[in-house]
Amino acid sequence: MTGRKNGLRIAVIPGDGIGQEVVPEGLRVLRAAAKRFSIDITFDMFDFSSWDYFEKHGTMLPSDWKEQIGGHDAIYFGAVGWPEKIADHVSLWGSLLLFRREFDQYVNLRPVKLMPGVPSPLAGRKPGEIDFYVVRENTEGEYSSVGGRMFAGTEREIVMQETVMTRVGVDRILHFAFDFANRTKRKHLTSATKSNGIAITMPYWDERVEEVSKSYPEVAWDKYHIDILTAHFVLNPQRFNVVVASNLFGDILSDLGPACTGTIGIAPSGNINPTGEFPSLFEPVHGSAPDIAGQGIANPVGQIWAGAMMLEHLGYPEAGAAIVRAIEDVLAQPAFRTRDLGGEADTETCGKAIAGVLEAAA
Ligand code: ATP
Ligand code: MG
Repeated sequence: MTGRKNGLRIAVIPGDGIGQEVVPEGLRVLRAAAKRFSIDITFDMFDFSSWDYFEKHGTMLPSDWKEQIGGHDAIYFGAVGWPEKIADHVSLWGSLLLFRREFDQYVNLRPVKLMPGVPSPLAGRKPGEIDFYVVRENTEGEYSSVGGRMFAGTEREIVMQETVMTRVGVDRILHFAFDFANRTKRKHLTSATKSNGIAITMPYWDERVEEVSKSYPEVAWDKYHIDILTAHFVLNPQRFNVVVASNLFGDILSDLGPACTGTIGIAPSGNINPTGEFPSLFEPVHGSAPDIAGQGIANPVGQIWAGAMMLEHLGYPEAGAAIVRAIEDVLAQPAFRTRDLGGEADTETCGKAIAGVLEAAA
């Protein structure tokens, strides 16, 4: 996608808990980046997809939510969920998961990058050594609800659940991953498989990787079985550039990756509809964190980084990269680190420091 001529319109949904505290910092940084790179952005705020909205209206979303946000260029999302007040399956299925499905966000994209000042549980790793992306298939595969139980509750009980892979579903995620590796100049892709144990669907996945790779001769690729792949995430993370995986394997890898790079407070995530038919959604990996909500101490970096991914996706890679560099600058200074990183800065102090780097460079 290329930069748009008529300006960007972003739907902003702060949601619950610390979402309401970190989103304003994300917007502060996006505004600073927009100014520096002369990007015309309008932010439209929405109060739905939150406990407050549910309490007033009895639903997570208004009936015309699709009309309200479907025409935006992207959705900038905070967090949803407040388990003490509303069950997670109601809040999640009533909003975020509905967005994913209705807007056909079939890619989940997560950067895995070790930042300065963030202690990695992998001893001795330095920033620069871990820097890759996990591309997860977000709509089919192992998470089908096809299957059933027979003889339930008896000694003869049989339970099964199918993995569903479609040509369209597999090919489109592979095309996204190869294209992403190509256009971000990463030029190397790793496919997660398990064709030595899962004898029907995974060989099919491998076959499609082989086939789709032919359209991307510039991108070198390899494949690993998921068991050894998880070991390499921990032992040799420098090996990876872009890792593509089915729904279940991607789910595991996209949690393991950010865990290898430190706190949950800094990692972002994109739920992407690559065709651009529907808006993509950018959010931090963390949730609403009710245990620290309302105190102004949440780490805003995950939300801010999600904004960088959003600008990159919308055709402003320099602006996205500048935000990531500003994050790195600020995290390198202990005075601006939040508590989860062993510092004392509050949410706003950290957000203002990152925005300040962008303003100073203007
Ligand atoms: P989800 O809502 O995605 O299911 P969760 O409810 O399991 O996630 P989170 O809300 O992400 O978990 O919180 C997990 C832990 O991490 C909590 O103790 C929370 O305080 C902490 N945490 C999460 N996000 C942040 C942040 N931005 N800054 C500091 N601590 C955080
Ligand atoms: Mg939660």
